[in-house]
Amino acid sequence: MKASRRKFLELGVAAMASAALSPRGARAQGAAPRVVVVGGGFAGASCARALRQLDPRIAVTLVEANPTFTACPLSNAVIGGLRGLSAQQFTYERVAADGITIAPTTATGVDVKGRSVTLADGARLPYDRLVLAPGIDIRWGALAGYDEAAAALMPHAWRAGEQTLLLRRQLEAMDDGGLVVISAPANPFRCPPGPYERASLIAHYLKTKKPRSKLIVLDAKDTFSKQRLFQAAWAELYPGLLEWVPLSKGGNVTSVDAATRMLVTDFGRHQAKVANVIPPQKAGRIAEVAGVADRSGWCPIDPMTLESKLQAGIHVIGDAAIAGAMPKSAFAANSQAKVCAAAVATLVRGGTPPVPKLINTCYSLVAPDYGISVAGVYHPAGGQLADVPGAGGVSPADAPRAARAAEAALAEAWFRTITTEVFG
Ligand SMILES: Cc1cc2nc3c(=O)[nH]c(=O)nc-3n(C[C@H](O)[C@H](O)[C@H](O)COP(=O)(O)OP(=O)(O)OC[C@H]3O[C@@H](n4cnc5c(N)ncnc54)[C@H](O)[C@@H]3O)c2cc1C
Repeated sequence: MKASRRKFLELGVAAMASAALSPRGARAQGAAPRVVVVGGGFAGASCARALRQLDPRIAVTLVEANPTFTACPLSNAVIGGLRGLSAQQFTYERVAADGITIAPTTATGVDVKGRSVTLADGARLPYDRLVLAPGIDIRWGALAGYDEAAAALMPHAWRAGEQTLLLRRQLEAMDDGGLVVISAPANPFRCPPGPYERASLIAHYLKTKKPRSKLIVLDAKDTFSKQRLFQAAWAELYPGLLEWVPLSKGGNVTSVDAATRMLVTDFGRHQAKVANVIPPQKAGRIAEVAGVADRSGWCPIDPMTLESKLQAGIHVIGDAAIAGAMPKSAFAANSQAKVCAAAVATLVRGGTPPVPKLINTCYSLVAPDYGISVAGVYHPAGGQLADVPGAGGVSPADAPRAARAAEAALAEAWFRTITTEVFG
């Protein structure tokens, strides 16, 4: 048995014993506050580390199902053949070195009243505050014909890893002259500019390696993030190669047939050689199990503390949360994690958290040397996280190519910085 797993199991037994001795998970007076974080992605791992930095007395346990984290940002460059998947992968060694107990397993249940998390092996972890950061799940079946078996033929690649490589391999195997189709979902979904960055980098691959091919983006929306910038760049870099079909022109995909790689819209049918279906999404399953997701499938939160509006003592951060004007991005997840950690560290001491300000910047690559970005600042207003008026914006429309190249370099630098902060 690995040392980390053994240590965790020992801790788990101690935790179960203490839970049994103290009903409802109540902690002895003066004992260290216990915070359990579920999900070791950009939100959860950031929050766990920030908590330890803010108050080393807090006993933090991070429950994460995978031993290696595979990051989505820049995974479109893997699909476009510009980067290896290993550049996206990180372990939890440095997180554990901060004194955080890693529970290398899946959280399967939450006893809200008793304040404990149930793990896959049945062990229970008592908590004083719980942070849920499970990212997204796919809404299997929400798009007719798209289930887990279909994803093996028409990859979504919206959780990075095997699916990313599958899409990459399909593009490599396609003959020159083939049709690639991407279907983009309605809002809200993980990474609003992501489908358009992906379209750009697939177009770059086709232009340089298979120039007789074509790419169609079928979209369930009429507008999208950084649209003017993307479209101007497409006209310049990929004329005749990349076609975007909005909702109003028949872009909404209503069903798919994986066996024939067929995508059906209200207006017609598209027979693809390679089909990338980005399906509707929802908060990771544990959110539903814990009762913090509403009928939309996402989790309403108090913008001051990121505590669930549905269950006291549980905070929800990252993609799973309904964060008002904030997009579902790794940058936003990291920002929310720090605010949540500060709120939790204050609340477990009986204090009142300060009013937070959060930021987000999302870079997108349109080509390896062509980057664009959008930035925003957010604060609690009207029960939501709202835009701070006038603080934010997008890259200028008329920037010279040198500025686009500089933003492409910044995208890479941002990725290095955030992954070092979260996992390094
Ligand atoms: C193609 C693509 C490109 C992107 N590009 C960018 C970008 O350039 N910039 C940017 O800021 N964002 C980008 N994003 C968005 C970014 O990846 C997400 O917003 C971010 O990962 C959200 O972080 P999270 O912690 O909420 O979820 P995740 O990072 O997905 O982490 C969730 C973690 O929770 C774990 N987990 C879930 N349920 C359980 C459970 N029950 N028990 C134990 N563990 C569990 C999972 O294993 C996972 O490790 C991109 C996304 C995609 C798909």
